[in-house]
Amino acid sequence: MELPFAESFKIKMVESIRKSSREEREKWIKDSGYNLFGLKSDKVFIDLLTDSGTGAMSDHQWSEMMLGDESYAGASSYFKVKSAIQELLGFEYFLPTHQGRAAENVLFSVLVKEGDIIPGNSHFDTTKGHIEFRKATAADCTIDEAFDTTLSHPFKGNIDPVKLENILISSGENIPFIIVTVTCNSSGGQPVSIENLKMVKQLADKYGKIVVFDSARFAENAYFIKLREKGYQDKSIREIVLEMFACADVMTMSAKKDAIVNMGGFIAMRSKELHTKASVFNIMFEGYITYGGMSGRDLNALAQGLYEGTEFDYLETRIRQVEYLGKRLMDFGIPVQQPIGGHAVFVDAKRFLPHLPKEEFQAQTLAVELYLEAGVRGVEIGALLADRDPVTRENRYPALELMRLAIPRRVYTNNHIDVVAVALKNIYDRRETIRKGLKIVTEAPIMRHFTVTLDRVC
Ligand SMILES: *Cc1c(COP(=O)(O)O)cnc(C)c1O
Repeated sequence: MELPFAESFKIKMVESIRKSSREEREKWIKDSGYNLFGLKSDKVFIDLLTDSGTGAMSDHQWSEMMLGDESYAGASSYFKVKSAIQELLGFEYFLPTHQGRAAENVLFSVLVKEGDIIPGNSHFDTTKGHIEFRKATAADCTIDEAFDTTLSHPFKGNIDPVKLENILISSGENIPFIIVTVTCNSSGGQPVSIENLKMVKQLADKYGKIVVFDSARFAENAYFIKLREKGYQDKSIREIVLEMFACADVMTMSAKKDAIVNMGGFIAMRSKELHTKASVFNIMFEGYITYGGMSGRDLNALAQGLYEGTEFDYLETRIRQVEYLGKRLMDFGIPVQQPIGGHAVFVDAKRFLPHLPKEEFQAQTLAVELYLEAGVRGVEIGALLADRDPVTRENRYPALELMRLAIPRRVYTNNHIDVVAVALKNIYDRRETIRKGLKIVTEAPIMRHFTVTLDRVC
């Protein structure tokens, strides 16, 4: 008999989590304005809100914490990260930042100005926020296949070459760079192929533009390339990573994802001139250029995390767990974005609750139901996240209305995953009885999903 698959780690430290009753949860979710961000974490049994900064560090990362150099300038911890970035990602220069959006803030302060257009593949919400905050526009050039959740395409994060070239022709002067998100979070943790990355780089060269990778899940992207792209089966993850980044001039990184740390980020680049320009903003917003908002110990853990995050065995354990959840849901007939992404399973709320109008926020309604059912916290990736149009102030309804179940790295067992799957099945079985959605009570002018408060439609 073939041996079953098992995790490439064992558990050395545990943290208790608490179950609750449906009655308790009814009260807690109401008190939090039907916004899952508003819940205290001890009111959550299984927390799939995000995979960002929620991973479990390894024994090696924890030992690196003890070796952190807390010198203000020139700390050895800075050089540890610098050499990990040079070796694994191939960039000469880097600036530490406290997280991914801080990297965007610093970099875009140099590169983005009012009226600019930044083409990319379904820009992440903070990326879009930092673009729109500067009165520039994010132009989505993702392939159309990404927006049909029933369609199985190996690289749904890909950029459409025709869409990209059209915008380069029509708006060339206003385009400071092209941004490629690997993997593409907003379209469901979907990877971008090497072939596509090379195409983007070629077009960028043709029109004299630089390419920025939004790289939070670059290693998961490399894993999918190894599994799915012709000619890459025998290459190591690290070889693929270097080949991917060879197509980029700059990268921004939320280290809270594939570098498996609880806080951290950076910008890396080939251009010394860009490094010099960005250093000014880094010092203003983040801190001196050798720590940029991070402690020495956190930089150490980040460097170690980059090595661990690019190991095949780690990635296989991680991505197979996400796939396991996806498969269980599919076996129950629950509509999910296919194929299953790298860090999360995305439930198609439009197909789950087709009888609810989009104005009643289907995905948010579903996320609230899941919390009530089993104390599981997912997150809406739909109309609330999409915000209002900055000009018309009308609600934007994106092509996909999803509930994301993001799996923290090295945190939950497959027993937890089974609880999530069965809880959703129970809701799916009684989906017809969910007749009322939610309405907005209060909201912020930008990135409203974090703090929005809602109420049941009566
Ligand atoms: C998480 C993320 C960011 C922002 O990073 P933070 O560390 O949360 O500030 C940017 N882009 C992508 C693709 C991300 O997943």
